[in-house]
Amino acid sequence: MCKDLMVVFLGAPGAGKGTQSDVIADKMSMAHLSSGDLFRKAVARGDELGKIVESYMKSGALVPDEITTKTVLTHMNNEGIRRAILDGFPRTISQAESLDKALEADGRKLDAVILIDVPDEELIRRLASRWVCRECQTPYNYPDGPQGARCKCGGELFQRADDKRETVANRLDVYQKNTAPLIEYYEKQGKLIRVSGVGDITEISHRITDALVEL
Ligand code: AMP
Repeated sequence: MCKDLMVVFLGAPGAGKGTQSDVIADKMSMAHLSSGDLFRKAVARGDELGKIVESYMKSGALVPDEITTKTVLTHMNNEGIRRAILDGFPRTISQAESLDKALEADGRKLDAVILIDVPDEELIRRLASRWVCRECQTPYNYPDGPQGARCKCGGELFQRADDKRETVANRLDVYQKNTAPLIEYYEKQGKLIRVSGVGDITEISHRITDALVEL
């Protein structure tokens, strides 16, 4: 049985949090808990939560803290998650405080926060050329569109509504305003580890694992 390990991946949209979470979670036998995926599943199911969050997501706005915190913490609790990468949560100081409290109430703590650092120009370029498989969610990079290409699993590729150029700028603004303050929040707690998110996927994942094995 592996020891408890709770790590947050912090970074702007397009920094590669989802991709790196998948790689590292697999390597280190951790769960990958993505708040965005929880919301996208609710939208696909068309349930009550999905109906509420859909319009926020389409415009690139944040889902209100109360709904987000409840969704993520309930999922963590129900699934008994004690060893995980939190991808896309927390995204505000209020969410970070709720997470700290919930872990503390359970005699646990956050072990580290990995900040995946990517310059703005690179983020915009990545997001606007991101196409995702409808079946398995694998992301691909096609600056001029997929031009008929399909996923390696055979699935159709589509562009997320919130990756369209109009919405990307809004998501980056929202990140600067609401999420970037978390950098200082976690720096003060002595938990922040900065990793460059520029380079190829394997190279970046090595930087992250090197930081995590020291915990
Ligand atoms: P992501 O896949 O992490 O980029 O999330 C997609 C969208 O889901 C975001 O643009 C938000 O609308 C919503 N979302 C995901 N996580 C959060 C969060 N922690 N707080 C508020 N909204 C969120």
